[in-house]
Amino acid sequence: MYKKKKNTVFDRWIYVCFKSQVVDTFEPVDTIKLELVNVTSRDNGQTLACVAKNPLGSAWAVARLNVLFPPVIMSLKEAVQLHYWCIPFMVRGNPLPRLNWTRDGEFLTEKEGVRYTVINEEQGNGTYEGCLELELPSHYDNGNYTLHASNTFGAHSRSVFCHFLSTPPGEHVRSEGSCAILSKKLPSFCFQNESADVYVVVGVAAFVFAMLILFCLLLHKYGQRSKFGLKGACKILGEEEPSSPVQHTPQLPNVPPEPTPDSVLIGLTRIPVIENPQYFRQDENLCSAVVQHIKRRDIQLVSELGEGAFGKVFLAECFNLSPEHEKLLVAVKTLKDSSDTSRKDFQHEAELLTNLQHPHIVRFYGVCVEGEPLIMVFEYMKHGDLNRFLRAHGPDAHFLAEGKDSPTGLELSQPQMLHIGWQIAAGVEYLTEQHFVHRDLATRNCLVGLGLLVKIGDFGMSRDVYSTDYYRVGGHTMLPIRWMPPESIMYRKFTAESDVWSLGVVLWEIFTFGKQPWYQLSNNEVVECISQGRVLQRPRTCPKDVYDLMLGCWELEPQQRLHIRHILDCLQELAKSSPLYLDVIQ
Ligand code: AMP
Repeated sequence: MYKKKKNTVFDRWIYVCFKSQVVDTFEPVDTIKLELVNVTSRDNGQTLACVAKNPLGSAWAVARLNVLFPPVIMSLKEAVQLHYWCIPFMVRGNPLPRLNWTRDGEFLTEKEGVRYTVINEEQGNGTYEGCLELELPSHYDNGNYTLHASNTFGAHSRSVFCHFLSTPPGEHVRSEGSCAILSKKLPSFCFQNESADVYVVVGVAAFVFAMLILFCLLLHKYGQRSKFGLKGACKILGEEEPSSPVQHTPQLPNVPPEPTPDSVLIGLTRIPVIENPQYFRQDENLCSAVVQHIKRRDIQLVSELGEGAFGKVFLAECFNLSPEHEKLLVAVKTLKDSSDTSRKDFQHEAELLTNLQHPHIVRFYGVCVEGEPLIMVFEYMKHGDLNRFLRAHGPDAHFLAEGKDSPTGLELSQPQMLHIGWQIAAGVEYLTEQHFVHRDLATRNCLVGLGLLVKIGDFGMSRDVYSTDYYRVGGHTMLPIRWMPPESIMYRKFTAESDVWSLGVVLWEIFTFGKQPWYQLSNNEVVECISQGRVLQRPRTCPKDVYDLMLGCWELEPQQRLHIRHILDCLQELAKSSPLYLDVIQ
């Protein structure tokens, strides 16, 4: 016998084997078809029970209705901002429809972390709710989004217009490297009024030209710059930079754009650099250090560690470096070019590095200047740069592993991340106390040693390896825009507060296991987003308290940003609230 759920014509067949405990042989006696009529997709999931009885007993079996039907997009709504941007939809179909998207008629590829379709809920009767998730869409993402759902029984499409960001003024006339990109927040600069703009642009051009001539004269007078990324020498510094070393950014509209030299001349090759006037500061203390000279015969190269913009970096054994150790493992940075000027700059840089001594600044041991190449000797940090370390200890380590740095399989814990952040903040605090603005704080410029010891380890030498982290503007200058606050992007204003902004980005890098900030945006889009006051989103694994700290670093107004001391205290408190397991990574 069969239970009728509805008056039906068969849309499928169910057969029941008559089975009885007292019958010796097990043979299907009959096959019965149950036809169901007027079945709709809403009947999906219903169960049908079939009970068979005879005088010797009974048996039963159940079957679940599985109604196949073509897709229907029930709803497709305008984008809403949740944790990410979401274009919500509801679709029905059995089997589960394939979902594709077009924007303004163009097929959209899905990419994890950029845009991808997520089914949030399956309602059981072939109905699915989901989102096209978009991370940090810009005005380039505005458009008519069409969802195409298809399965073997049919297809259905539906469209919605989504607006994320307004097109910035002047977009249609901007060109790469022009003021329009870097000065979007300067109303007078950028194309608000065509006729007024002509005057403004001519005025600005005249000003820039005058400053350029002035700068060329200064450059000519003071000669070449650093070969090691530390730009310049103490001797000449005070004349270029005002006496107050840490400048607090004045109100944005009153700050004139600073002329910034673009590059360093090394031999015949111009190496792009970020100008750091801090290196040019006349500072009695910083120039007073006695640089230790190390004999070439005391340095024995072991292996190559990598290559920076200014030469190769080697692991080496260094003898007679300290009375306690006969030999020490060190990292030696070589400098190819050795002209007189280079040697002089090299000496000044060594003095500066000798004076920067702190547990969270990589230790500088000294120089070797007998013969060539010129060498700087640093303490060896076993795990190399922090960015690579984070990637090797994150969820994507297995496919990011590069040969010798194969992943350990250990993912960093939150207390460990906080501890890393705290150590960098401690280094930044020290630099701030020394009135030193770093300008290029990023995980690629930090080094990791044994026991998760982290130090700020590079003052601008890694931009060859991480060239995509820098944005080339005006031909030569490379700017780490993804780490820069609006006032640095727009006015090249670098201060203790801009270092705090970058420190916030470093925390973000740590909590994303080394992702590139704004990785889904082009450089132009990044400039646009930052200029419009947008900030990086909270990483999925980041606690709210830590994200609040990041937001405190990313206040638009430099004076409103958290003080480095406060950041340190917060990180310490947060780290204290959960135990540290530092012994897992050696
Ligand atoms: P840099 O020239 O500073 O960009 O360094 C090039 C490479 O050498 C980077 O990948 C670093 O990981 C590595 N490196 C630089 N300094 C050290 C150091 N003190 N200890 C260990 N590795 C280093």
